[in-house]
Amino acid sequence: MLVRLMYASRAASPVDQEELTAILRQSKQRNPGLGITGVLCFSGGIFIQVLEGGRNAVNQLYARLVGDPRHADVVLLTYEEIAERRFAGWSMGQVNMTRLNPAVLLKYGETATLDPYAVSGRATAALFEELVATAAIMGQA
Ligand code: FAD
Repeated sequence: MLVRLMYASRAASPVDQEELTAILRQSKQRNPGLGITGVLCFSGGIFIQVLEGGRNAVNQLYARLVGDPRHADVVLLTYEEIAERRFAGWSMGQVNMTRLNPAVLLKYGETATLDPYAVSGRATAALFEELVATAAIMGQA
């Protein structure tokens, strides 16, 4: 039974590239053993992460993530049972924000800023679809 979960959170303190790399490294080390794939996006102090995998594995990781002191205001955006993975190629890919076209943000939000707290979970999921389609994801599994 596969599920896909998407959440947003705010960095507890300013996150520099080193800290972001550490989170991604930790994710890439642990996720293959858990059968988890996904994508992490960080912009303007906000994380958005998609986790795919077995229901138990995803639920348990999400429970751990909620308690991670590196972020706060964790909000569940979408949770669905899926027939197949969308991010099978990434143990934890990173959205390349430098390649993000502001027009894509404007398509789904009121302004050209990434604010999952201000739009529906479906809108953020649709934004991720476009990011995958335009190959703006770094860090192959
Ligand atoms: P341990 O490694 O035993 O750590 C114990 C506690 O310390 C936990 O509460 C942990 O959250 C916290 N902690 C761990 N490292 C640090 C640190 N460097 N600074 C501050 N606190 C720390 N983990 C995954 O396995 N897969 C993912 O895809 C994933 N994505 C993440 C995305 C974000 C935005 C963040 C902030 C973290 C992510 N993590 C991910 C890390 C996850 O929250 C856990 O730290 C990790 O899974 C280890 O869990 P543990 O219970 O074994 O904690």
